[in-house]
Amino acid sequence: MSAHFATLLAWPKVKALASTGAVALLPIGSTEAHGPHLPLSVDVVIAEEVCRRVAARLDAKGVGSVTFPPIAYTLTDFAAAFSGTVSLQGDTARALMRGVIEGIAHAGFTRVLICNHHLEPAHFKLVHEAATEARASTGAKIAVADHRRRPHGPRLGEEFMHGGSHAGGYETSLMMAAAPHLVDEAARRALPDLQVDLPARIKAGAKDFLECGGVDAYFGTPASATAAEGHRLFEILAEVSEAALEGD
Ligand SMILES: [Zn+2]
Repeated sequence: MSAHFATLLAWPKVKALASTGAVALLPIGSTEAHGPHLPLSVDVVIAEEVCRRVAARLDAKGVGSVTFPPIAYTLTDFAAAFSGTVSLQGDTARALMRGVIEGIAHAGFTRVLICNHHLEPAHFKLVHEAATEARASTGAKIAVADHRRRPHGPRLGEEFMHGGSHAGGYETSLMMAAAPHLVDEAARRALPDLQVDLPARIKAGAKDFLECGGVDAYFGTPASATAAEGHRLFEILAEVSEAALEGD
């Protein structure tokens, strides 16, 4: 069985994998500003790395997997003011995600695991809605790993729960572990800490990162990020994601 990437396979192989019970993995991210030290692809890179680690865990248990190309465009209103951010309307994003999930299910995969790492609340809600719709239309088992939920969230650190989980110590550590060549180290080390309780600001009605006080599209403590912390976080994310497959 082992772990495969859909884009590298011819259709008969995809068909054979689906019919023997391989799990389909779908990474979801965004194309959005992540501070002056990280590229627009952060959420996609993180989602793909989580899928890679989940695939390795499944492989170790004798379960095959096929990772599909990521969804890299979605609703991202909070970062819309920054160059390079591309935001879709909610209905468009939901329809796109639903269509991709249904397409995967129609290929014969009965188990689909969605690994989303764009954490904007309005977007994550669309992910759950798209999965619910695709579940109803295809009958496939579609799991959405949601690492924000207890008991998982607190394991990802104080910044993740109450600070800037956007381009701060959390995401920057993950990027240093998964794709260090994409992190501008000089820019990262020069960034002052920006302590903002992002979830609380959003709850209080803030509509974008500027209203939250993030004039450079980052929050938290990028300067304190380390690759070792990133690897620790990835293992938790992979564990939580794999568990979602069991629980759904
Ligand atoms: Zn992000």
